[in-house]
Amino acid sequence: MYKLYTIYYLMETEPKPSKQSQSQTQSYKSDALRVFLNIDTTDDVYSSFFTERQFKYYSDSSRCGMGMKQAKEQLQRIATYRKEYSASAKGCELCTDTKKQHSIRCIGKGNHDAILYMSPGNAMESSVYHVCKHMLREVDTCFDLTDSFVWVMNFKNYSYEHIVPNTTITYHFAKWLNDCLHERIRKIVMICPPKYFYPVIYLAKSLVKNEISDKLEIIHTPELVDNILSTYLTPEQIKLTQLL
Ligand SMILES: [Zn+2]
Repeated sequence: MYKLYTIYYLMETEPKPSKQSQSQTQSYKSDALRVFLNIDTTDDVYSSFFTERQFKYYSDSSRCGMGMKQAKEQLQRIATYRKEYSASAKGCELCTDTKKQHSIRCIGKGNHDAILYMSPGNAMESSVYHVCKHMLREVDTCFDLTDSFVWVMNFKNYSYEHIVPNTTITYHFAKWLNDCLHERIRKIVMICPPKYFYPVIYLAKSLVKNEISDKLEIIHTPELVDNILSTYLTPEQIKLTQLL
């Protein structure tokens, strides 16, 4: 355990808060992390991610697998990325409970990890800014549940016209994975991508670190989908994905 954990430990030894002051304590912890990262803002963009759970994760080398210097550098990259996409607890302003423009969602904890499910063929909107912002919020939801996640992409309803916007988004996702998420992705599962999507897959593999591309699993046979998904998803989640 290294120095960042010591900071956390010191904060943990603060007097136990009353219920009324819990939000103040959360703010206090976030403020301490901002000081540690030299972030001089109280913007909601940061506080929605730098929760106590995230703080514990990055301050514990046995969980995040990084030394203190690496963890600090990664947290600074995360802060920069979140600022770029104005990420906040409010999430994507284009999607409402009844009308979804994007098709990316955390569908809960699977057999071991949280499951991020995406069906890009069903997306109504594909601007980089809004897709990345939406994605950040859903991944935050995954990290509220577990330290790592499995990313499932289902290519039903995927047509050739999705290729151009999805290629642009691929560049942004690849950088984000490399800079901020490389150790937290357990698996990337693609369900029956069409042949014309393969150039995007090759592009993505060339952009991400080997440790990420090694986690890619492509299911080619529709009959095997449920069987392979059962490694990661609960039976209820598999039923849910058939409806999404
Ligand atoms: Zn959205």
